[in-house]
Amino acid sequence: MSFRATVLTLYPDMFPGPLGTSLAGRGLAEGVWSLEARNIRDHAADKHRTVDDTPAGGGAGMVLRCDVLAAAIDAVADGRPMLAMSPRGAPLTQARVRELAAGDGAIILCGRFEGFDERIFEGRDVEPLSIGDYILSGGEVGAMALLDACVRLLPGIMGAASSGEEESFEEGLLEYPHYTRPVEWEGRMIPEVLRSGDHARIAAWRKQRAIEDTRLRRPDLIERHGGVREASPSGAQRED
Ligand code: SAH
Repeated sequence: MSFRATVLTLYPDMFPGPLGTSLAGRGLAEGVWSLEARNIRDHAADKHRTVDDTPAGGGAGMVLRCDVLAAAIDAVADGRPMLAMSPRGAPLTQARVRELAAGDGAIILCGRFEGFDERIFEGRDVEPLSIGDYILSGGEVGAMALLDACVRLLPGIMGAASSGEEESFEEGLLEYPHYTRPVEWEGRMIPEVLRSGDHARIAAWRKQRAIEDTRLRRPDLIERHGGVREASPSGAQRED
């Protein structure tokens, strides 16, 4: 059974968008996964096809009605996890992405305006997920980010099967930095250790750089992961 994504949106024309190219697009064409974008507006009950209304308690903007959202969800619900893109959700992590990619797909609600009537989350067991601490104009780009992250993990998508395993976040660390030819570029060299052919030294250097860069840029990752297991036995020194 392949991974099936259903996106509920006011802008179905935005899909597949970037998911139709490169790895994800090839997977889509080959049936490794499927994508259906459905218009929430098709589930509006009145002749004006209204999907939103003013916020209870006052304030700017419009809120997506839970009765319309529920009708859109009920038309597709089949046991797949139901997610909603929301800056008020838990931050999406690679761990959650892995869980989702191991399942049979997801139903993803995309918000617009001020977002969703809060009752939809409990009322339909919808999990809110955020893609970061900033505000997008709609959930569609977030849904694309989520699906892109899931789809690249599906069997048959990535060429080198192992390249998914050593990446940023997998051990609570950022990945080590990469280099490729030319060896010298504008006076900057590829670190000598990477040209040494000494696999143990290279592994130790990479681990060390992953730890250092994470401490510098993303100390929150190390904290969340409960600290760092110390670098490799050969006691890597920084050598660049
Ligand atoms: N008033 C809301 C923001 C609404 S933005 C608030 O302050 O929390 C409109 C829609 O864009 C949201 O319903 C959501 O679907 C999407 N969106 C915006 N930022 C997002 C983020 N960081 N992660 C996921 N979805 C986001």
